[in-house]
Amino acid sequence: MLRGAAVRLLRGGGGGAGTPRVASGTAAAQLRRRLENELEDIRGAGTWKSERIIASRQGPHLRLDGGGAGILNFCANNYLGLSSHPEVIRAAVEALEKFGAGLSSVRFICGTQSIHKDLEEKIARFHQREDAILYASCFDANAGIFEALLTPEDAVLSDELNHASIIDGIRLCKANKYRYKHMDMQDLEAKLQDAQKHRLRLVATDGAFSMDGDIAPLKEICQLAQKYDALVFIDECHATGFLGPNGRGTDELLGVMDKVTIINSTLGKALGGAAGGYTTGPKPLIDLLRQRSRPYLFSNSLPPAVVGCASKALDLLMESNAIAQSMAAKTQRFRSKMTAAGFTISGKDHPICPVMLGDARLAAVMAEDMLNRGIYVIGFSYPVVPKGKARIRVQISAVHSDEDIDRCVEAFTEVGRKHEALP
Ligand code: PLP
Repeated sequence: MLRGAAVRLLRGGGGGAGTPRVASGTAAAQLRRRLENELEDIRGAGTWKSERIIASRQGPHLRLDGGGAGILNFCANNYLGLSSHPEVIRAAVEALEKFGAGLSSVRFICGTQSIHKDLEEKIARFHQREDAILYASCFDANAGIFEALLTPEDAVLSDELNHASIIDGIRLCKANKYRYKHMDMQDLEAKLQDAQKHRLRLVATDGAFSMDGDIAPLKEICQLAQKYDALVFIDECHATGFLGPNGRGTDELLGVMDKVTIINSTLGKALGGAAGGYTTGPKPLIDLLRQRSRPYLFSNSLPPAVVGCASKALDLLMESNAIAQSMAAKTQRFRSKMTAAGFTISGKDHPICPVMLGDARLAAVMAEDMLNRGIYVIGFSYPVVPKGKARIRVQISAVHSDEDIDRCVEAFTEVGRKHEALP
């Protein structure tokens, strides 16, 4: 006999439009209870992540939903301010009009347009590599590469603080796994010695680490890789477009462009901020990824508007290094003024400027108080960062004015004194 929700389901009823359907049955009820308990645990642990709703474009000045206009934004990965750049927006609109909303297809069936090939060519040229392949995100690029490239005969050596997507990508492959201590070259060397028994060794590291704003010692990593006959892979999500004299990334900054074999990066941060990721490197590797990489083979093509944004962002960067340089000057201003005010800023020369506070509650209340003063910053605490190392992460953008930066430093100084984080 059909009863209750099941009857409504079959009749297409179950409440008017907008009324959610609630699955019935013991299993569904058990699941709901379990999920509610789990959510309660997260709240209880103080690690609940809530989302503020922005009612304007991404940029240095925001309007928050339900009030709050003119909020100064210091927590986007919009390093070059291209997310709302007029030329980037125009390029997206033109691509949308000419090539449509989307491809309704993966690349190898009928999802490749001329703009996808042009963008791949442009990415390879930007990084001075042989070829490039696009993904829906860098998370996907990281999920796809290790499994396609490495077999049980090979080894991968990964920095312990690598991004979650690298960790997940490595989990998916069958290579022998080594995890070396964060940026510890002695430990990497010991692991490379141990890994000599394998056919191929791949050292995998973030170029710049997003929680600490520190930059991988790529020169030393490349020297070790040469000594122990290993390849080097870098994730350049927090470097592409702005690190190095021409914004090519960590490898340019540290003078090892010809020593790093594989680069994965995102189009969703400095390069227009829409979405998308890529791998760039040797042509046979890119050819293999087109044949074997599962997130590429089994996921939709990048939408034309998104391709248009990234393509224009790369044009702007290849025309001039002025934007990347202006971001470096703003970063320097913030770091030196905050240090002079008495704060400890982790990392060096990177627009990710973690203001180290230690205590999780202090980071949370200070971030809230900063917002009360019109400055949007985010506090990070355990488990996102180690216990006792809570911080407020500030991210500088090329489109912050000197006045914006000074206002942020002043607010930090006031709030820091109020909460006794400063003398
Ligand atoms: N790698 C690093 C280091 C990141 O910070 C991120 C984004 O947070 C990703 C990969 C994933 O990039 P995407 O947003 O393109 O998936």
